[in-house]
Amino acid sequence: MTESPVRVRFAPSPTGYLHVGGLRTALYNYLFAKKSSGRFVLRIEDTDRGRYVEGAVQNLIKTLKWAGLDFDEGPGAGGESGPYIQSERTELYRQHAEILLEKKAAYRCFCTPDRLEQMRREQEKQKLTPKYDRTCLRLSEDEIRENLNSGKPFVVRMKVPDDVNVSFNDIIRGDVEFHSRQIDDQVLIKSDGYPTYHLANVVDDHHMRISHVIRGEEWLSSTPKHVLLYRAFGWEMPQFAHLPLLLNPDRSKLSKRQGDVAVEDYQQKGYLKEALINFIALLGWNPGDEREIFSLAELEKEFSLERVNKAGAVFNVEKLNWLNFQHLRSKPDGEVLAMLKEHLAKSGMDPAKFGDDYLLRVITAMRERVSFIKDYTEKSPYFFRAPNEYDPAIIKKRWKPQSAEYLSKLGEQFAKLASPQKQEYEDSLHRTAESLKVGNGELIHPLRLAVSGMGEGPGLFDILVILGKEETIRRIGSAIDRIKPAAA
Ligand code: GLU
Repeated sequence: MTESPVRVRFAPSPTGYLHVGGLRTALYNYLFAKKSSGRFVLRIEDTDRGRYVEGAVQNLIKTLKWAGLDFDEGPGAGGESGPYIQSERTELYRQHAEILLEKKAAYRCFCTPDRLEQMRREQEKQKLTPKYDRTCLRLSEDEIRENLNSGKPFVVRMKVPDDVNVSFNDIIRGDVEFHSRQIDDQVLIKSDGYPTYHLANVVDDHHMRISHVIRGEEWLSSTPKHVLLYRAFGWEMPQFAHLPLLLNPDRSKLSKRQGDVAVEDYQQKGYLKEALINFIALLGWNPGDEREIFSLAELEKEFSLERVNKAGAVFNVEKLNWLNFQHLRSKPDGEVLAMLKEHLAKSGMDPAKFGDDYLLRVITAMRERVSFIKDYTEKSPYFFRAPNEYDPAIIKKRWKPQSAEYLSKLGEQFAKLASPQKQEYEDSLHRTAESLKVGNGELIHPLRLAVSGMGEGPGLFDILVILGKEETIRRIGSAIDRIKPAAA
């Protein structure tokens, strides 16, 4: 079998956390690799030493693994094109800068930061696009040698050819064209000897035999510089696919100000990885029909770059919440049980106190009502402890002057039942209502308030069965003692 020629990479700069936009880029690369039986490479682009953050790489890898996006090559995973961390490849970039200098496709620039700043201000005043003015391109060989000998710091700039069209095909956007006039003589090697993103990115994509560059739209304007570099080296270009921007609901660019952007924030808030992946997959891609719920395995089969659209994708948290509900709802009991136990323990409760059977019954009762694991204790705290207080609005609406007396009768009747199930509770309540000559509602509503402290939840008789007879009667007793009818 011949190896698939498809090789893609996710190339994050380790800034300390994984942005949801980064997760989308990683996911689309991963899915594209899976779909084409290709390889998914993780490359760490850490040549901006000023932005170095301790532990960021490990954090990133941990988050990708949490999401289920295993990479075939990368730090810790091995592969033939390593090292996969750019700061360990600086010699390669230096050699390639040398090649460009020899080909006169790049030149050394000795301009000081002060001079560049002055130039920029001048251009601004004259309303010109800020661009390097090529002072150092005009230096003679002698001047260059002199500067080097005297140890003057320098950068290496790319020499953008004059008056050429720079065009490329983008799988998502079609033909894209820039004119070289619009392109600055980009710095390729900084004065600290480290390459800029542009040089390192192109050199690595070539040496790592990347076939498709799939990345966010914010990199589209860098692509002509990359195209020129491929041309200068005489290398074949990969195919490009620039993914649509992620937008806030008001269609501004997705920002921290309007919500969380770190994948870890969503993890901490209790989102399931299945829901987040499903949600992120739909930010720019659609299956071409009405389906919305996908597992990662289904996405691996369905995904295609052809179905990614150009228009910005709105990040709608409501939809994410809905997907979380859907994925949580379809999880097997055993998995939900494990998560619920973990949640109880984290909230300071001992899961063993309840026992698995009890918790499984709670899960069955609440399955259609919870979007998050934390909803078990937030929406139905009464399964884990007797109510401390009773909802005043429900007292006002449902607790009548006679309610205490009615519930007391009902408690007496319940006490006579032997291991009651739903039906027995229900029959007993109906008989009591009849003997009191009141409607069932006169008992049902105060009873719900007494056992749960609330006015809504799963079926009342289901709650009673789960709590058990003793506890039900105990709660009726405390409610009678503690609830005072609201003043009329
Ligand atoms: N290091 C860039 C980033 O942080 C990679 C862009 C690209 O994929 O070319 O997103």
